[in-house]
Amino acid sequence: MTHSEPNRRASLLLIYTGGTIGMKQDPASQTLKPFDFSQILEEVPELRKFAYRIDSYTFNPLIDSSDVEPSLWQCLAKLIKEKYDQYDGFVILHGTDTMAYSASTLSFMLENLAKPVIFTGSQLPIGIPRTDGRENLVSAVEIAAAKDTNGDAVVPEVCIYFDNMLMRGNRASKVSSDNFTAFKSMNFPPLAEAGINIKYNTPLIIRPADRNAGLTVHTELDTRVSILKIHPGITPHVVKNILCGEETRAVILETYGCGNAPGKEWFINLVKQAADSGKILLNVTQCLSGTVNMNLYSTGKTLLDAGVISGYDSTTESALGKLFFLLGRTNDNLIVKDMLVKNFRGEISK
Ligand code: ASP
Repeated sequence: MTHSEPNRRASLLLIYTGGTIGMKQDPASQTLKPFDFSQILEEVPELRKFAYRIDSYTFNPLIDSSDVEPSLWQCLAKLIKEKYDQYDGFVILHGTDTMAYSASTLSFMLENLAKPVIFTGSQLPIGIPRTDGRENLVSAVEIAAAKDTNGDAVVPEVCIYFDNMLMRGNRASKVSSDNFTAFKSMNFPPLAEAGINIKYNTPLIIRPADRNAGLTVHTELDTRVSILKIHPGITPHVVKNILCGEETRAVILETYGCGNAPGKEWFINLVKQAADSGKILLNVTQCLSGTVNMNLYSTGKTLLDAGVISGYDSTTESALGKLFFLLGRTNDNLIVKDMLVKNFRGEISK
């Protein structure tokens, strides 16, 4: 663990997409409304104490993150590319509901990232006395500005900062709808923990592969992906519709335990039919932690033999973003199958 010195002259771009954090009570109607984000320094005067240059960019329209679409990720990626040389780091304020999806997909879209991109939000609006938004925002800003003694960003990754924890974005999931600890990274340790000091877990932080190459932004996303959550009582009709849908290039199977699914003949036949037709079938566990290992039980081995690919310890959110990104790069499903098992941004432990 290392500590960093706050970077006094940092310049940061705060990007507000919507969500609870940027709301305050409208005195007239007594309802929560988004506030004018260009006034963020008036709302959170603590930010002035850093003496950073903090600019803000507000999306129009602001959205509840339940309405997030890949087009928002494309806009975010393009915005970061456009502003990349002007800022030391980026803080993205986003609703919590789909934050893990957005952070996951952005992590794949931004290749060779050398600057922090920190997502944060809050469970209570910033204009409410007990808000968690102030601490989340202030610490996310400090992390986005932190530089090491060489002048490099301490955390040049896409992350989620929430309730004292900095998590790799593609490892985090929303785990609570009403607790301040709204996110957890179950299969990977935090990249930093904020207490009296912010302690960075430096050996775990990924640095850009090629410092001179600059940022590459991949905006092509192919969303022809479905998710099939296995459950007792699942019917052939439902499985067939999801696995064999004509428009579907890939299906994420959310399986039991270490990657197990029913061994019934009709189920395995449908899996084989989908795999034989060229569809990509990716196995992730519905357990909150742990990894897929299809060699352990015969029900898992049958899936492996049918052509199902291991998602290892990936979250579903990350598996979805990775598929959108890889399918967007090629029309050849065989190439995608090969690439899926590779670790691109620290999203799987292999
Ligand atoms: N529904 C809100 C959203 O995701 C909740 C939040 O901001 O935390 O935009």
